[in-house]
Amino acid sequence: MINRKSANRKSTRLTKRAGQRATHRSLKEQLILAGKVLVAEGQDDFTRGHISFRLPDDPNLFFMKAHSIGLDEITMQNILTIDLEGNVVAGTARRHSEVYIHSEIFKARPDVNCVIHTHPTYSIALSATGRGLKCYSQPGALFYEALGSYTDTINLIRSQAMGAGVARALGNGRAVLLKNHGVVVTGATIAEAVIGTIMLENGAMVQLLAEAAGDPAPEFSRADIEKLKADITQPEQFTINFDYLVRRVKRRG
Ligand SMILES: [Zn+2]
Repeated sequence: MINRKSANRKSTRLTKRAGQRATHRSLKEQLILAGKVLVAEGQDDFTRGHISFRLPDDPNLFFMKAHSIGLDEITMQNILTIDLEGNVVAGTARRHSEVYIHSEIFKARPDVNCVIHTHPTYSIALSATGRGLKCYSQPGALFYEALGSYTDTINLIRSQAMGAGVARALGNGRAVLLKNHGVVVTGATIAEAVIGTIMLENGAMVQLLAEAAGDPAPEFSRADIEKLKADITQPEQFTINFDYLVRRVKRRG
């Protein structure tokens, strides 16, 4: 009887472990595809930029892209597992020095599971103006009253204190403009963070074009913008659009 009970416990443990392995594998596959989508959408800057995802079965750990490779070169072998202090706990690849952007946001925001940091042209240009994102196009509504600004330095975020500063600038928002440096975009899912990153760049581009054309007309009312924001923040919207971009990237090979 005792033997049968312990055998059952062992088999439950093994089944659980196999389930975790399958989940980790599928998350890593999504990270790999997310990296390819981000590059296809112009979010690459040499090997700079990174993406991470929190482990659902251990919220104190996250998977992260490694240093020295492009966002489109993430593989099962080079993804690192990192703890909330920024220590690598699994994997042999080199870790990004800006790991603290990710670890400090994961510490501060239990609702965030995915963090992306990139250096997209229009978002950086907007950050350099010191102005916030206006709702001059629909992507602007996604970040309406949800976009922070980090203005401490142009330098890399290479310490926990600096990472905590980025997390503070994020607050309860969706993303942060790092002045003259880049963006940090968060999401509950990989799809949400990837689509958010692309939409932020698009919103910044439209704003800079409108401002360059001169004297843009006022935004729509708060109520009107909030209605759109509610519509486009439905999780299904992120999934549908991310899945499309994944199909497109696969078609292009
Ligand atoms: Zn950077």
